[in-house]
Amino acid sequence: MVRWRTSWKPPVHAVAADRPEAGRAIRPAVTGLGAYRFTPHEAEVVLDQNESPYGLPETLRDEAAQLAASVALNRYPDLEPRRLRARLAEVSGWPADGIAVAGGSNVLIQAAVLAAGIGRTVLTVAPTFSVYGLQARIAARNLVEVPLGPDFSLPVEQLEEKLKEGSGVLFVASPAAPTGNSHPQAELERLADAAGDRWLFVVDEAYHEFAGTDLSGFARGRPGTVVLRTLSKAAGLAGLRLGYALTDPFTAEQLRKVVMPFSVSALQEELGLLLLRDPERLKDNVRRTVQERERLQAALGKLPDVTVFPSAANFMLFRVPAAASVHAGLLERSVLVRRQDHLPQLEGCLRVSVGLPAENSAFLEALAEVMTETGGNA
Ligand SMILES: *Cc1c(COP(=O)(O)O)cnc(C)c1O
Repeated sequence: MVRWRTSWKPPVHAVAADRPEAGRAIRPAVTGLGAYRFTPHEAEVVLDQNESPYGLPETLRDEAAQLAASVALNRYPDLEPRRLRARLAEVSGWPADGIAVAGGSNVLIQAAVLAAGIGRTVLTVAPTFSVYGLQARIAARNLVEVPLGPDFSLPVEQLEEKLKEGSGVLFVASPAAPTGNSHPQAELERLADAAGDRWLFVVDEAYHEFAGTDLSGFARGRPGTVVLRTLSKAAGLAGLRLGYALTDPFTAEQLRKVVMPFSVSALQEELGLLLLRDPERLKDNVRRTVQERERLQAALGKLPDVTVFPSAANFMLFRVPAAASVHAGLLERSVLVRRQDHLPQLEGCLRVSVGLPAENSAFLEALAEVMTETGGNA
């Protein structure tokens, strides 16, 4: 299967020199972001976006098609998807009034910045998921990024220091992206204590299923702590766009206020409900992915001049002598991975998602070839 893919590159934080006159209407915080740089790539083996390789089973496809046909598209959906929220409450073992649902957890990241970050600080680590910094640059007064410690560990003391003053939003992903490691709960607890009631603490659990971890217990009884979840990764619905937040009822209500009314469509709600009907199917897919992750990890570890980093997620980072030429060599062999070598501490790093067994084997074979041909050098 050949798909056209777009490789997202982080925006350049610089003022465009050739800004048209009309550009004066736009806030400098926005024009200063520069344009998104998109590079379209064609590949048969697409392992660049941490997606699930598992599509819907045939039977669900038929049911989804019928459901889609039955939705009254002339009518507005629920102001807020209450039935989906109730189902997510069941699945997560969390009270429904403490849940906010949106069209992707990215939207909830934005909602957190709108609710608690405007005129204040967004605090996070570097490198991390780019959307925290992007939303902060657009809407917050300050963005503070504390470098990760050795082995991509949380810089707990420096973060605690920063949390002593001011207010705003703290974002931490665990398992982390793009580094793939999980952070110990005890460290998150220290941060929650330091955050007190002046900071919204968002713990992004986009990949928790692959780590077998669950931080909802940590958030329980800690008002102002938000656990972010998504159906884009383990649930295999990146194209449907659904994410949700588990938090206390007060915070959930504030997040629901800043997420646009009607922003989850009737189609999204119906299909989300259908796909959440069988959590066991999803668990099987996660088990297969974890098995393949371990196989990939071991195989990468055996390749000369390749350093692979441990991962608790559905992707892993690996370092080669020359990331650009290895990325290009893989692409020539129709394998698409993601460059991460522009990020701090990640010189020479590429990131590969765990795909189907055959895709992973194709990737390993292509990488071995590229490394032998070029020695990983340009
Ligand atoms: C992929 C990912 C998400 C998911 O975002 P959606 O908008 O729900 O697709 C959230 N956080 C992190 C760290 C991710 O890697």
